[in-house]
Amino acid sequence: MGKHCDNLNHHLQKASYFTNLLSDPTVILDAQGYVIFKNYAFDDKLSNKHLSLISIEALGEILAETFAYPYGELHQANTTQLPPSGKITSNQEFELDAYLNLNFYEDLHAVIIKPLDSEELLQQVLNSIPARVFWKDINSHYLGCNKLFTDDLGVEDPKHIIGTCDNDYFPIEQASAFQADDKEVMSSGQPKINIEEPLTRGSGDCIWLQTNKVPIRNNDNKIVGVMGSYMDITEKKEHETRLEKQANTDTLTGLPNRNGLANFLQKLKAKEESSNGCLLFIDLNGFKQINDTLGHQIGDRLLKSVSNRINMRSSDEYFSARLGGDEFAVLIHGNKTDNKEAATEIAQSLNHMIALPYRINNHRITISASIGITLIDIANGSWDTAYHQADLAMYEAKAMGHHSCVIYEKSLSDKYNKIITLRRLINSAVKNNELSINLQPQFNAKHQLIGAELLLRWHSSELGPVSPYEFIPIAEESGAIIAIGNWVIKKAFTLLYQWQQDYPTLKLPALAINISAKQFEQHDFIQVFENLIKLYPINLKLLRIELTESILINDQESVISKIQSLHSKGLAIEIDDFGTGYSSLSYLSQLPIDKIKIDRSFINETIGNHRKTLVLEGLINIGKSLNMGVLAEGVETQEQMDFLFTRGCEEYQGYYFSKPITEEDFNKQYISNNGL
Ligand code: C2E
Ligand code: CA
Ligand code: CA
Repeated sequence: MGKHCDNLNHHLQKASYFTNLLSDPTVILDAQGYVIFKNYAFDDKLSNKHLSLISIEALGEILAETFAYPYGELHQANTTQLPPSGKITSNQEFELDAYLNLNFYEDLHAVIIKPLDSEELLQQVLNSIPARVFWKDINSHYLGCNKLFTDDLGVEDPKHIIGTCDNDYFPIEQASAFQADDKEVMSSGQPKINIEEPLTRGSGDCIWLQTNKVPIRNNDNKIVGVMGSYMDITEKKEHETRLEKQANTDTLTGLPNRNGLANFLQKLKAKEESSNGCLLFIDLNGFKQINDTLGHQIGDRLLKSVSNRINMRSSDEYFSARLGGDEFAVLIHGNKTDNKEAATEIAQSLNHMIALPYRINNHRITISASIGITLIDIANGSWDTAYHQADLAMYEAKAMGHHSCVIYEKSLSDKYNKIITLRRLINSAVKNNELSINLQPQFNAKHQLIGAELLLRWHSSELGPVSPYEFIPIAEESGAIIAIGNWVIKKAFTLLYQWQQDYPTLKLPALAINISAKQFEQHDFIQVFENLIKLYPINLKLLRIELTESILINDQESVISKIQSLHSKGLAIEIDDFGTGYSSLSYLSQLPIDKIKIDRSFINETIGNHRKTLVLEGLINIGKSLNMGVLAEGVETQEQMDFLFTRGCEEYQGYYFSKPITEEDFNKQYISNNGL
């Protein structure tokens, strides 16, 4: 042992001398990990502190364990290396960092012990959490922060922010907003949580924060500062923004949609600047026809081109949107748009721009628009009202004819409110079971029943009965006519089917149904019949379709093919209100038309009127010469019937015979009595 021991002592002496020079507490351990020496600094700084709670031997054991003795390779004597630091925890009583020096001699190891002071400990804890943390004094000067926060500030060390304030790092509005929050928290004593706010980082990029701020109190419970923590929610925010953008954008044109416009208006309002402006509703004239004749692809491209022109002036003060279909809106605000003249001028120039020709797939297309305008008080006005007014003005512009721009005025409300209400209510008439039919019988000269016309009745739960003269045009314009028309067709099928079931031997009257142009134009119009034919195998010879002349002059090919298709199934085709539209004899002769119905206006006040009599005779002759049946509508007196009879018209419908009656009455009078 002798030599070795001498050597050890010699080295220990050297080592102790050296470690005593260190200002950090240091111990020297032997091969077993026992502390065989502690330096002055150790006694100075630790012996009467936390370490007194633990024996120096225990410390040695902990150190040994932590550094996994034996070390293996020896290191050159007298060189001080700093291997990885390790944290030594014995129990809650003390915690320290140890820096290991392997030096001196074989089994002699010196360990420099660095106790953590509480501040350092706190800093470590703060650095380990994934949120940004900072705290400030009563004047909103920073007292400290964690490492993540310094990244946002663009500062190296948390210590560097002490004494600085938000103005040193952020744009002035942001800094003031942060400080205002501090003030609020400190003066109210209440925490403020989940504040979502933007922050421009030291690097210049902008992130979104979700911030919590709580007051800091001293031992006397007096508020002495504020502590904040926040998470970076930029990703979540960006996701939300993307979703919001999708919900607010029209996919075809990329313009904001109805939602987008409403949100924009909301934001303007929120700015609380009282500003005036105008809202324009733009509706294209005859877009549907272009869409139907040239196809949807071209229709879509046209809408895009129109939207580009409408959006050409786009700026902070000029906001355009697509409301749906061929309807657009422009919201203009700023000083120069709050008077009628300026607003009209803008609308007219828009109208002019829209009307310039378009070239799409080698088609030269022209289209015009009707524009409704209303002046709005952005801060105080209601969006619903503005919307409604612009809509009314647009209606009036439509009614006035192409290219019109109309400014809303009170008188328009009175004029159109009814229409708007009807438009709203008619939409749900089918769904709400508010529709029914009347049947008006038709007779021959011998007063024998030959058929009946189905006439629609609407009893609105809100308005009571509404005349078809009033609601049919509105349903046509709003598109509700499709559902309504389908309901009527189905009604005719089920009625005939029921009669056929109940009275299989009875000679049943034919049923005529009115088909609106819009419904006839539907590409699946024939399909509707084919589906019903499968469900209700009725005698199709008993079904008659009343079409108006206006239907016939549209898109010839598809009209002819649809009429032929219906005719080939056995249905009869009748021309309703004959004589009131433009009929071309050549069309009529090309189509398999079974009957013309001469409009009531040619029967009314005709007797004794030479000119009217000539016209009536002419109409009857056209029908007869084309080999069609001729029925007179609106026959109210025997005299009228006789007058018609002597001129060759042998079928009649009108109050003289019967007013339209309910389904039930018709059943009683004309079906069940005869069927029994
Ligand atoms: P319309 O097809 O010309 O129908 C005849 C209208 O004249 C009916 O009015 C009928 O009640 C009325 N009328 C019949 N005989 C006389 C008479 O002797 N004197 C007078 N002054 N009037 C008579 P209603 O039922 O009010 O229907 C009005 C219009 O509404 C119909 O004119 C038709 O265009 C439309 N309509 C009715 N039902 C339907 C339907 O189911 N679908 C479609 N698309 N339109 C319908
Ligand atoms: Ca009719
Ligand atoms: Ca008619």
